[in-house]
Amino acid sequence: MATPGDSPALDEFSLIRRFFTFDDGLQGAAREALQLGVGDDCALLALPPGSELAISVDTQLPDVHFPADALPADIASRALRCAASDLAAMGATPLGFTLALSLPSVDVAWLVAFSDGLRRAATELGCPLIGGDTTRGPLTLSVQVHGAVPAGQALRRSGAQVGDDVWVSGSLGDGAAALAQLQHRTPFSAEHVAYLHQRFYSPEVDFALAEALRGVATAAIDISDGLLADLAHLCRASAVAACLDAACLPLSAPLQLLPFAQAMRWALTGGDDYRLCFTAPACHREDLSDRQGLARIGTILPADDAQPLIRVAGFDEDVPAGFRHF
Ligand code: ADP
Ligand code: MG
Repeated sequence: MATPGDSPALDEFSLIRRFFTFDDGLQGAAREALQLGVGDDCALLALPPGSELAISVDTQLPDVHFPADALPADIASRALRCAASDLAAMGATPLGFTLALSLPSVDVAWLVAFSDGLRRAATELGCPLIGGDTTRGPLTLSVQVHGAVPAGQALRRSGAQVGDDVWVSGSLGDGAAALAQLQHRTPFSAEHVAYLHQRFYSPEVDFALAEALRGVATAAIDISDGLLADLAHLCRASAVAACLDAACLPLSAPLQLLPFAQAMRWALTGGDDYRLCFTAPACHREDLSDRQGLARIGTILPADDAQPLIRVAGFDEDVPAGFRHF
């Protein structure tokens, strides 16, 4: 049923054909796997022989996960990349994603920009759109990602061993800085604003790293709720503790300009970084150090009820745990 904001003559199926039927991202493992995409009751994927299916779903809402006035292309990019980040954290290779989309109205200009942003992200990630659901309602995006990982080689949270190194895949605290900037709370230079927007709306998802970590990392998680909160999940799942060195936390140029305590607070507890945090035995230290962007930030210790789960050497302040919806 049409409402005043709607563009005329665009029913549900024309809308799906026009904006959500495309080949972008259909490459590599995803191309091999896809038997049937958008248009039937289900998509069909043939899993690579000897692999397991990795599945994860993420929902994004305006003013909860992104500012309500965000550009449609940015909303699309962020929704797909944040969901894809979970595949990388599992060591999986992307096969495709489905999109359940609720739209308040059919706004063609919005949909053109949204679809463009989605296609760009799909291409960059090698993760094609293989199906979805379109309904009328308050703007809501649920992205379900599907990936493949060689059987038994998924990077779970539960494998960290005492003595392992703790690594992160890039700068920390950018997500929190970006949010502060978007909410006009912190002044940054135009160059740094552009960088932070890029980090917030188009977080890199490094599938080459994810694949290289199979058989190397003992445990992994992606940082969506803040380093301390997410590393705590990994530690609990592995029944270990961790000690981090504040001086080793990688900071981007805009964060380096902030007072140390502010930068540390964001790096330790800010959400939305979408970096990988993983553990690996010290024998891999040299190989991992050669990979650009990786930083060794701490060590896995035995669990000790008398000590905090995660200690941070070089930063004394008590920092609150990460973001929680409930
Ligand atoms: P069904 O009623 O069988 O669930 P739909 O009528 O909802 O199917 O959708 C028709 C086809 O369009 C299906 O293949 C579905 O996967 C696809 N589809 C619907 N919405 C989207 C979307 N937003 N993005 C991609 N594919 C979509
Ligand atoms: Mg349906």
